Amino acid sequence: MALRFDGRVVIVTGAGGGLGKQYALYFASRGAKVVVNDLGGSMSGAGASSRAADVVVEEITKAGGSAVANYDSVENGDKIVDTAMKAYGRVDIVINNAGILRDISFQRMQDADWDLVQKVHVYGTYKVTKAAWKVMQDQKFGRIINTASVAGIQGNFGQVNYSAAKLAAHGFTLTLAREGAKYNIQACTVAPMAASRMTETIMKDEEDLRLLDPAKVVPFVGWLAHESCKETGTLFEAGGGWIAKLRRERSQGVLVNPTANFTPAAVSSLIGKINDFTNPEYPVGMLDYADKHKLEDALLKPTL
Ligand code: NAD
Repeated sequence: MALRFDGRVVIVTGAGGGLGKQYALYFASRGAKVVVNDLGGSMSGAGASSRAADVVVEEITKAGGSAVANYDSVENGDKIVDTAMKAYGRVDIVINNAGILRDISFQRMQDADWDLVQKVHVYGTYKVTKAAWKVMQDQKFGRIINTASVAGIQGNFGQVNYSAAKLAAHGFTLTLAREGAKYNIQACTVAPMAASRMTETIMKDEEDLRLLDPAKVVPFVGWLAHESCKETGTLFEAGGGWIAKLRRERSQGVLVNPTANFTPAAVSSLIGKINDFTNPEYPVGMLDYADKHKLEDALLKPTL
């Protein structure tokens, strides 16, 4: 049976093109009312135009769906949420998708390259979510999807600004998921891979472009955003129909008596053990780090 979104109001940021457009078309085709937000600027964040959002709204309404346009930058997220509240009176799902690139090696990076990328990805994601949060708390329902990137998870040459911003999106998700739990607000992060204007300089092969059609990310995000989905605080990669979950892994580590033998030379002799992932742990919370028994153990029976 198809998962539907009748009665739900969805904000998709950066919905004038690429992945965002596909998200907007999808949610509208499944019964949701959609706020199509797009600033309509260039890939590096220059300029603005209402056309990008208007074209998508037109496509949705022509197909019999319901959508309104919003042309604000995500930095003014409260205005985007205002558009949703005025048009539809609620906000159920926020897809924080808008993004820009200012790729340049770290050595040559200017403050403006750093600042604008943080503003759009980090501050913009915060502003839209912050404005929607109270509405979601009052409704006792919310689904938030933040957008990361493999560049943030693994690093990528020329993308220090973008990597920092995209991994921040997941830190944001992790704590939103904890704070939202009692209000039935769930948050997840998706690191997509799709052919769009953002990837056109690295993806040229026609077969790659076809395989990485942005529409192939959409059903997964649809599932994540659905009321039946219980996933929260998690990070996924999705592209070309491939979907995988990522989690944190930690070595067993070593215990060193901090009052006696904890010297750089001791660390040097233990580094093999510190780096040993033979029996990994999968920490999921702050308590995993401040495990009382381990701290006591460190004093009572240290490795060294
Ligand atoms: P895209 O450039 O096609 O789409 C981004 C959209 O965001 C554009 O329509 C743009 O006008 C809009 N936008 C930019 N700044 C905005 C702002 N301040 N306010 C509102 N709208 C704004 O790129 P895409 O590939 O569809 O990327 C979508 C998201 O996915 C981005 O967050 C991107 O970082 C992320 N991402 C994409 C890929 C990929 O393979 N395409 C990989 C990793 C992450």
